[in-house]
Amino acid sequence: MFDFDGDHRVDRLFQQAARHGVRIVFSHPCLELWWLLHFQAVTATLDPETIKLKLGRQSEAFRGLSKNKRLTPQRWEALRGLYPIACRHADRLISHCGCACEPPRHGDDCPPSKRSPSCNLAELVGSFAITY
Ligand SMILES: [Zn+2]
Repeated sequence: MFDFDGDHRVDRLFQQAARHGVRIVFSHPCLELWWLLHFQAVTATLDPETIKLKLGRQSEAFRGLSKNKRLTPQRWEALRGLYPIACRHADRLISHCGCACEPPRHGDDCPPSKRSPSCNLAELVGSFAITY
């Protein structure tokens, strides 16, 4: 699991992972996008600072985010009950991808580095059968 952080080696990493049957959890441009999707749909590319700002406006628990990405009890409580909404919003991002992608996944010909905004953390959460 990682976010983009401007590292264009991500496309090669996805290819290598696919060859070895490894699934990647990826949030582009940043992990905070996943949290923001719990509160609102995202329809355009946003930089990480804008995402953090919007997230802080949505929930006090996420104000002043820095490098601390811990899911504190306050943050966890803020997200409670919103997982289905986040999943819908994440699927919508795939529908609006510039490629011919359709949920639940981007196509193999859709370069991960160009998938901004995108986030497949729902796959990871779903694979653990976590509901909140
Ligand atoms: Zn795509």
